[in-house]
Amino acid sequence: MKLNRRLLFSLVSGVACAAPLMLATPNALAWGDQGHMVVGLIADHYLTADVRAQVDSMLATDNSGLTATDIAAEATWADKYRNAHRETAAWHFVDTQISDGDIDAACFGHPSLPAGTPASGGVAQDCVVDKVDQFALELRDPNTAPAERLLALQFLLHFVGDMHQPLHSSDSRDRGGNDETVSASGIAAGKLHAYWDTAFVNKLGTDPNQVASALIAKISSAQITQWQQQTPRDWSLEAFDIARSDVYGKLPTPDSSGKYRLPASYVSNARSVVATQLSRAGVRLAKILNDALGNGAAATGATVLASPFGSKK
Ligand SMILES: [Zn+2]
Repeated sequence: MKLNRRLLFSLVSGVACAAPLMLATPNALAWGDQGHMVVGLIADHYLTADVRAQVDSMLATDNSGLTATDIAAEATWADKYRNAHRETAAWHFVDTQISDGDIDAACFGHPSLPAGTPASGGVAQDCVVDKVDQFALELRDPNTAPAERLLALQFLLHFVGDMHQPLHSSDSRDRGGNDETVSASGIAAGKLHAYWDTAFVNKLGTDPNQVASALIAKISSAQITQWQQQTPRDWSLEAFDIARSDVYGKLPTPDSSGKYRLPASYVSNARSVVATQLSRAGVRLAKILNDALGNGAAATGATVLASPFGSKK
């Protein structure tokens, strides 16, 4: 099997003797905190009242101390948890290769969980698509131990966001864009991956609540219906297509040193793509939570909020 460079990097970067340069380059953070908080807030908007109450009460039992326990902060929890749990590092992405689009290979052949093994204790070599499916099943099952069910919720709040970052659903043998240096007008030079994690998100605004509200205002009921019909695998492949067409496909010719100077058209397109991806992630996260914790019916927007349903568990 081809060596997964980002996984290797994740493992190496957790070792004290690793090269300082590697330690100085955070790997695969995915949407920065800002992006994940926006996804959490959008999802919160589309939860039924009953499911929201369940989510809030579960998160209130989080005594990890890694984040505050509101849904927006908890959407960043898995990135903090990873710092002391490097075995979860590969779960944040799927390295579907731009060259072949083989998501099954990138998911290590979809290793199954041994009977009796919780999803949080699964093998390190698994992908974000599998982990979303596994944790959604655990969250849905009332027989899941409460501590594991909380972990399932926390991982879902984060991973549904991650898979919508195009460079977390693709790789071009460049550690998900961590090997490309880019710059643009008004943005400090950095890695292509970091630009998509944070720089383009920051173009939407710096207050997660304001960004989420602005995005929610533009989400139509037709979009909600369309987006929620699909599966986590589809969502990842959709992000993969965006990586191929936009993230890599719109890169200009590099300069003589191999660096990319992004034109204004790249930045404005990226801003638009990020807005769409954060919106899709929030709407789809809400569906997963409503399906798992509600009575099985998906939320369809404000009408559901006005007439909450579902039974307390
Ligand atoms: Zn992540």
